Amino acid sequence: MANLDILDLPSYLDHTPESGARVRELKQRPVVLEIDQLSREFAGPTGRLVALDEISCQVRHREFVSVIGPSGCGKSTLIRILAGLDYPSSGSVRLDGKPIVGFGSDRGMVFQGYTLFPWLTVKKNVMFGLRMKGTGSRQAEAQAREWLKIVGLLDFENAYPNQLSGGMKQRVAIARALANEPRILLMDEPFGALDAQTRGSMQSHLLKVWDSVDVTVLFITHDLDEATFLSDRIVVLGANPGRIVEVIDVPLPRPRSPELFMSGHFLATKKRLEHLIYNHETPMKHPSANLHSRAA
Ligand code: ADP
Repeated sequence: MANLDILDLPSYLDHTPESGARVRELKQRPVVLEIDQLSREFAGPTGRLVALDEISCQVRHREFVSVIGPSGCGKSTLIRILAGLDYPSSGSVRLDGKPIVGFGSDRGMVFQGYTLFPWLTVKKNVMFGLRMKGTGSRQAEAQAREWLKIVGLLDFENAYPNQLSGGMKQRVAIARALANEPRILLMDEPFGALDAQTRGSMQSHLLKVWDSVDVTVLFITHDLDEATFLSDRIVVLGANPGRIVEVIDVPLPRPRSPELFMSGHFLATKKRLEHLIYNHETPMKHPSANLHSRAA
């Protein structure tokens, strides 16, 4: 971990004029995802284990929100509930006002592990969800090719997953998730298995794709640089029990480029995240989500 204390940095609360304007504009947008007082408990070996404790958060239309926190803070539990693979012990999760129950094509998923069907070509992988929804074969093929064009893999439409690099596989996974035109893309450490260089280019690639598609993103990561580079807001969770310790409006303008990694606002945000994640021992109860924002 770099020692950021020796640098004279701006406050992570101080926005550039552009990022401040974006924060204000985002707050005007309709809410797509609403997480309200969400708790999830499990029976642990030594009694009740509170994985998520009264999490409340709203994600707005075409916002990019990351969730970050130490191991065991409930990130996977949260995304599993949002995907419909698990359920709340109390509280609620709603998409466009409707409670999330079970799997639905209104949510696209991209996981860390490569989840492509190895026996299907790239194109047929992307067509899969469309065919399941009842889209005709020709139309599904045309749409799949459009999505492959967007992620830059049209030349590989007839390749099989084992002929692709890790980054290419994740681009197909993104195309497959977006092909169903979900309201929200749920991404669970999607670049976690990639080498640093591929990871960096995938982050830039994802921002370009997201910019051209009408979709909201909820992104789980434990990488501070990744969360800062990609997000409009970062929800920081603390562990034992999993609670929100702070929500940061990222003070960086868009479009983002890798040069931003060296900017004062970037480093100030990263320093704040380091403090919250590595020094924050006891999460506060019921923090106000945007209590500290000076951008609004
Ligand atoms: P993270 O993804 O942030 O590492 P998880 O959501 O995987 O955290 O886990 C949060 C806590 O809940 C951990 O203490 C974990 O052991 C516990 N947990 C998660 N799933 C279950 C389960 N199915 N049964 C019991 N405990 C669980």
